[in-house]
Amino acid sequence: MYITPQDELLLEYQGIALTCPHCQTLTHLTAVAIPKFDDLNRGKPKNVGLVFRCDACGEPVFLKFAVKAFTPARIELAPNYVEIERARENFPLTYLPEEAEGLFREALNCYAAGCFNAFGAMSRRTAQSLFRELGEHGKLELFDTLQEIRTLAELDDDTFAALRAVLFGSDSDPWPHQPDLEPQRAGVLLEIMRDLLYQTFVRKARLMQAMTFRRFVAPTQATTQA
Ligand SMILES: [Zn+2]
Repeated sequence: MYITPQDELLLEYQGIALTCPHCQTLTHLTAVAIPKFDDLNRGKPKNVGLVFRCDACGEPVFLKFAVKAFTPARIELAPNYVEIERARENFPLTYLPEEAEGLFREALNCYAAGCFNAFGAMSRRTAQSLFRELGEHGKLELFDTLQEIRTLAELDDDTFAALRAVLFGSDSDPWPHQPDLEPQRAGVLLEIMRDLLYQTFVRKARLMQAMTFRRFVAPTQATTQA
């Protein structure tokens, strides 16, 4: 991938596809603002910022690329990029207890910003808040749910041990009491948190809502039909 002396961006392969931060669709991008070849060659910055347009919704997407080489014929960019604005992770937060809702919202923001250890720390605080809220029995139930997820998702022992330490470890454990999270493990933790919170709160609340709805609706229909 490179910028030509004519200020054009030439892409190899299929171009760039990502989840749009605005419409959340996995989509292709079209470059709309490319820095000038001459300006770049003069300043020789380490990184170059480009503006793309989402092919699905037309909103701007900002990406930053490291420069691999400046030559008279082209400016070569590294194929991987940094998303300046990442797609938000959605979760029906209102089903969570108030304190956990605030903490997990912040955890999701950390994840979207690519701050994965901060995401781990906020996930742990969310878990701690839930243990306090649900008591010892609730904590054991959460642990059982985590074990279930481990089996369903076929998590390997190392990943499971690391994520269990993040969520169920104690702040009084010997240093480092929380393992480091690289992007891949953070991604797994995100899916575990989603499933854990969904199983514990959202599923029950939605089932209760549906039951209440049926209790109101079903008898009325039966009378009309009879
Ligand atoms: Zn879009």
